[in-house]
Amino acid sequence: MDQDLIPTTETIRKLIQELNKLPGVGPKSAQRLAYYLLRASEDQTRLLAEAILSVKQKTRLCSICFNVTESDPCSICCSDQRNRDKICIVEQPQDILALEHTRIYNGLYHVLHGAISPTEGVGADNVRIQELMNRLQDGSVIEIIMATNPNLEGEQTALYLNGLISPLGIRVTRLARGLPFGTELEYADDVTLTRAIEGRQEF
Ligand SMILES: [Zn+2]
Repeated sequence: MDQDLIPTTETIRKLIQELNKLPGVGPKSAQRLAYYLLRASEDQTRLLAEAILSVKQKTRLCSICFNVTESDPCSICCSDQRNRDKICIVEQPQDILALEHTRIYNGLYHVLHGAISPTEGVGADNVRIQELMNRLQDGSVIEIIMATNPNLEGEQTALYLNGLISPLGIRVTRLARGLPFGTELEYADDVTLTRAIEGRQEF
């Protein structure tokens, strides 16, 4: 339905418009959420608004791995329980959540914040590749696990990184096939992800 045809007030229309910008929220869902919020208690809407604001105000990126964190460095980078000689490379912070959920990986991470995509004008300089290379300078890392998304951009990025990292004498592995091509890591289920990590192969 054309949004202009919805008989509503300017404030509701604005809310629907903003909700509609969220990933996975179409015009219909945005409308439903807006009217739900309209009926919700003032407490509930305040808590939601505060949660949205504080996620911007209180979180930042870890200066080492670029994961989202409230304290810098993040809890994974600070932990003495983690293997510090392995770094798993992911595209987005939410990929770490998916991998951590499997409880199978105990090394460190590096978040690229994107993937190389020549068609969309995203080059190596637009993602956190230089920062990764800086982390590899001291020779303490012995394995890099490529966990970029199993799609064209993810593959291109992994290939490019392998070209930079392999010459350093660091073992480069990638998640096992089994993740359906064209999907995103964050949507993979635990069993598939666990198998992918356990069965990781030389790049
Ligand atoms: Zn970190």
